[in-house]
Amino acid sequence: MSDLSKLCIHSVTTKPWGLREAATKYAAAGVSGISVWQDAVAAYGEGHKATGDMIRGEGLDVACYVRGGFFTALDGSDRLKAIDENKRIIDEAAELGAPLVVLVCGATPGQSLFESRKQIAEGIEASLSHAEVAGIKLGIEPLHPMYADSRSAVNTMTQSNAICEEIGHANLGITVDVFHTWWDDRLEAELKIAGEKGRIFSFHICDWKNLPEDMLNDRGIMGEGVINVSQIRRWVHDAGFSGYEEVEIFSNKYWAMDQGEYLGKIIEAYQALS
Ligand code: ZN
Repeated sequence: MSDLSKLCIHSVTTKPWGLREAATKYAAAGVSGISVWQDAVAAYGEGHKATGDMIRGEGLDVACYVRGGFFTALDGSDRLKAIDENKRIIDEAAELGAPLVVLVCGATPGQSLFESRKQIAEGIEASLSHAEVAGIKLGIEPLHPMYADSRSAVNTMTQSNAICEEIGHANLGITVDVFHTWWDDRLEAELKIAGEKGRIFSFHICDWKNLPEDMLNDRGIMGEGVINVSQIRRWVHDAGFSGYEEVEIFSNKYWAMDQGEYLGKIIEAYQALS
């Protein structure tokens, strides 16, 4: 049985709710944190600082700002633009009062994944001093290889650890998402390595449904699919991570239902984790 002191929910999980409604409803249900997506801040319309203040006023922590990255491009000038964009996102996170920006690193059709990974490392490296000055951490989120075409050339914990090792900066670490990493037979060992280096920065949970109907928007609630979320959570804890457990679910099915009822299901599933 899990208490709710480590439970955080991504604003996109209950997309039909605006940020204020999400913050109010999460807090009333006993949820402790919220991870804030850029589009939700834009829709709230008050700017980043006021958004962070509103959320904290509701009694919630802002766990992270989602998302930066997309460092890859065929053209060098586009890669420079991406670095500028990431610096802007880092500034927004600082205004919001979020300690961490999650990086979806990018991949570009027309160039190899090796080339994309090289560009990702260069882009991250070029953004890190800005992040350090702003007091913001950057978390590389390896994505499931089904997204290697155009979303991320970083697909495993092994690759994420390698980039962190190569760059070697205290503000750079990893965001572990069960949806993206559950299939990997290196997962437990790489979590251990990341833990020893103090670079597990955040942890995302949901489930992989048996035969999802959509590559993006058919994620399941924990316990609904094939991922042993409790086991991965134990590995993450054993590796020394004690931060928020962030529920991040994109689901056309759940977005169509009553969001209050859905929030109840999420909390019930979270409490059932062993
Ligand atoms: Zn995630």
